[in-house]
Amino acid sequence: MADTAPSADVLVVGSGPAGAMVARDLARSGARVAILEQGSGPPPGTNLLKLLRRREAMQIAPGVVLLRSLRVGGGSVTFYHTATPPPLAMFARHGVDLSSALDQVLAELPHAPLHDGLMASVSTRLMQAGQSLGLPWQPLPKMIDQSRCHDGNCPPEAFWSTHGLLQQAVKHGAHLHTGVQALRVLFSQGKAIGVEARSNDVVQTFRADRVILSAGGIASPAILQHSGVEQAGSGFFCDPLRIVMGHLPIARAPQEISMSAGYFNADAGYMLSDITVPGNFFRAFTWAACRPDQLLSYGHTAMIMVKIRDDIDGRIDAHGRPWRRFGPADRQRMQSGVTQARAVLRAAGSGKPYVSPWVAAHPGGSVRLGEMVDENLSCHSPNLHVCDASVIPGSWGLPPTLTLLALGAYLARRLTQSARAIAPHRTPPAASSSPPPPGA
Ligand SMILES: Cc1cc2nc3c(=O)[nH]c(=O)nc-3n(C[C@H](O)[C@H](O)[C@H](O)COP(=O)(O)OP(=O)(O)OC[C@H]3O[C@@H](n4cnc5c(N)ncnc54)[C@H](O)[C@@H]3O)c2cc1C
Repeated sequence: MADTAPSADVLVVGSGPAGAMVARDLARSGARVAILEQGSGPPPGTNLLKLLRRREAMQIAPGVVLLRSLRVGGGSVTFYHTATPPPLAMFARHGVDLSSALDQVLAELPHAPLHDGLMASVSTRLMQAGQSLGLPWQPLPKMIDQSRCHDGNCPPEAFWSTHGLLQQAVKHGAHLHTGVQALRVLFSQGKAIGVEARSNDVVQTFRADRVILSAGGIASPAILQHSGVEQAGSGFFCDPLRIVMGHLPIARAPQEISMSAGYFNADAGYMLSDITVPGNFFRAFTWAACRPDQLLSYGHTAMIMVKIRDDIDGRIDAHGRPWRRFGPADRQRMQSGVTQARAVLRAAGSGKPYVSPWVAAHPGGSVRLGEMVDENLSCHSPNLHVCDASVIPGSWGLPPTLTLLALGAYLARRLTQSARAIAPHRTPPAASSSPPPPGA
């Protein structure tokens, strides 16, 4: 059954960091914005089978699972809140100056290293062990409002997510449609005229003067392929990681904040940091590493994440199925990082460290700036934009959220500055009756 929804100036597909930021800024400047978000309902927890069924976990290479979030807020509701500034030169090479957009984002968001009282004992021990080996292991900036944290604990509302941006977008008149999966972009005479989307088995057409795909590094190239842009999805990165684990005589606190300290080895192409994974992931990793003797040691296990900058490789097909291989250079980067992490764990007092299988968490680089996307983030047609991790122009290996927020702010500025971009005759609308996003 097909139906046509009311039209908007701008349709934003996806409510992750990039989508929420561009939607909020455009709505605030007076554009009629509609956000289509596939996610709805309560989060499903960390059961791997459930995540696989929901396609929030997907196998992307033999034995390698990729995690992503198909929820209102995208990755911002499950991420570890580490804020790493964008490599500005990488974007400037393609005519994209993110510096003032980044300033805007940093002025608005919390992004500071944890206060001493919030650094857990295991994280501190790992940091001291790293420093004792001469590594520049330092507290990492976190997107956590630490003024809300007391007695070493941070309440859920202290942890930044895009829900605040979405709430503001709605206040400025945006309509947030949840449980709506965009299928393809519709074109007429070479211009995007809207999106075909499915909600509860009903196919609807959402019309708009401009379409922004912010559905993430896997879904955006799949939507583009469905829309006839076949080159999308040829090659991607996923920043794979392994977790090196070891028993320590001190107990881990139940609510440890992951990635509170670490360091980047840009030359060797990896980063190391402390991390805590849920108990079921810990048991699966420990079992896979053939260490049944450690299965009951969750509370005394220190974990170091080794995340590498992998090469662009493989393909994402039109059904959103990614597949790739990890070549010798990727394996070498991982091996160097794992060796270093083992040394840090030993310096911290751990006996026989062991290593998890590969996991991936940052899919991107699948609709690359400079190849398929220009400095307006336009792709295929001037009024079709891609604004998410897909457009990152090359191998990555960094926490990407701050970069993606800056990209969203950058695109909103480009569009509001361009005379005919978003119906500038309109004055900012009054608050809409749309419901606030769940959890906001
Ligand atoms: C465990 C974990 C920890 C992480 N920790 C960090 C960290 O500490 N720091 C950091 O910077 N990054 C971290 N990341 C990565 C970060 O979360 C993502 O890179 C980031 O959220 C990507 O943003 P995005 O805007 O590209 O898309 P996403 O956040 O993926 O958002 C895409 C949105 O589009 C929606 N969508 C998808 N398909 C459709 C469709 N067809 N129609 C409608 N909607 C659709 C999705 O539901 C989602 O809401 C972590 C990731 C994981 C998995």
